[in-house]
This record gives sequence, structure tokens and C-alpha cells, in this order.
Amino acid sequence: MHELPVVLDIIRTMEEETKKRGLKKITEIDLVIGELSSIVDESVQMYFEIAAEGTPCANAKLVFDHRPAMLQCTVCKRKFPHGKDFLCPYCGGDSVLVQGTGREFYIRSYDGGQG
Ligand SMILES: [Zn+2]
Repeated sequence: MHELPVVLDIIRTMEEETKKRGLKKITEIDLVIGELSSIVDESVQMYFEIAAEGTPCANAKLVFDHRPAMLQCTVCKRKFPHGKDFLCPYCGGDSVLVQGTGREFYIRSYDGGQG
């Protein structure tokens, strides 16, 4: 359910962008979603289709780019994307989550048109 405010935020941002840049409509929106952000593509898509109705975002294509959380090995200190466990792929040591990674959610880019 928390995707609805997120979707409304995207649409508001896009409306501001269309005004700033003199665009008539948005055709595609590229979103970055961290694996720990608990945002679900299908819910975003569903809310978007309803909420974008009558806005410059109507019928825009959503593209989802998933980002893994990053881990850092406590032994060799190397960083690597979270896979199936917390073991370092280089030395087999234990790793910890790199603070803040995997929680990103933002608009990376968008395409718009005049007509
Ligand atoms: Zn290691």
C-alpha cells in the first residue's frame, strides 16, 4: 500500500518537469528500486495507471532498474552486491550490509515529448 504516495510523488515531479521544460507529455520513466526498499513493481505499475490518468504521465512506460544491497567483507574489506548469502565471494569471510545501499528509490531519467 505504501506505493501509492510514492507513485503520486513521481507524477507530481513529472508534472513539474513538463512545466519547466515545456513538454506536453511523458513517454517513459526509468525508476531505480533498491532490493530493500520494499517497493513492488506491480503495485507501482497498478497505482501509476490509475493515478496518471489525465496527467502528462498518462500511458507513460515505466522501466524498473533493480539495485542489490551492497555488502562489505569484514575480513578482506572488499565490497560486493548481495547475492544469496552473506559470505564474501573473494575470501569466504562474513560480511555486513553497507549502510544505505539497497534502499534507493528514485527517478533516474525520463523521456518526454511535445505532442
Ligand atoms: Zn572477504
